[in-house]
Amino acid sequence: MPAVETRAQKWERVARLLKKEPISNMAAARQLRVDKAFVREVREGLGMSPYRLSRDQQNWERVARLLKKEPISNIAVARQLRVDKAFVRQVREDLGMRPFWLHRDQWTVVDFEALSVPVGGGHRLWRGRFSTTNVPMAGRSETAYRLAFRLLHGREPVGRCEGTCTRKACVAGEHQEDDVMRAAEPGRLSYQGMDLVAIRKALRGTPPYPRLRPEEKRMAFRLADPSLGVVAAAVPVIQLARRLGCCDQTIRRWRDEGVPA
Ligand SMILES: [Zn+2]
Repeated sequence: MPAVETRAQKWERVARLLKKEPISNMAAARQLRVDKAFVREVREGLGMSPYRLSRDQQNWERVARLLKKEPISNIAVARQLRVDKAFVRQVREDLGMRPFWLHRDQWTVVDFEALSVPVGGGHRLWRGRFSTTNVPMAGRSETAYRLAFRLLHGREPVGRCEGTCTRKACVAGEHQEDDVMRAAEPGRLSYQGMDLVAIRKALRGTPPYPRLRPEEKRMAFRLADPSLGVVAAAVPVIQLARRLGCCDQTIRRWRDEGVPA
């Protein structure tokens, strides 16, 4: 280093360090024995975003890498990478990934198809175990109907899960229906004491939104899945919270951990 450094040389020195790795202005200033304000000036001159932001970006990348590697819960990622759980959830959302709990299933579509055979009319017959009352069973306590439903729709069936076809013991996922699907049927006014008109108005309408009872809020949340046809497109969390009369946190929790029954 020359005895008397020009401003241009000093600038170069700082710029080299800033470009090398994410580092705070304070740390760069200490390391290079220059003024903190000068480091900030160089950073701005280089068109670099403030350090805090780049550290977030770095964390975002680390979290994304881990999430994409294998099914892992938000809490596990947060612990492993020492980041906030809400941050992990945000990254998962940014990536358009489904909540972790949907990935815990031990059954895959391949397993299911290996244990059943398709027959005419889109029906499917179970080749696995049957209960003593002749119900096709996928596990000790789970019916093949519920398994087929879950594998097709990517969620647990709610309430009764039963066949909509006339074929006895048909396990085709497409032929199973649960409470949510029945509630989503157009023209239905109420279901199990829930006011479906109010739920639909809240989901689709403009304010003021009708007041929903707790079980109606939960059903409304389930019906907010665009694939059920009640809403045309996914409703953003904050908007959905407003329409249902819950707080954002509740909606996020339901989405991450499932809706309580
Ligand atoms: Zn069928």
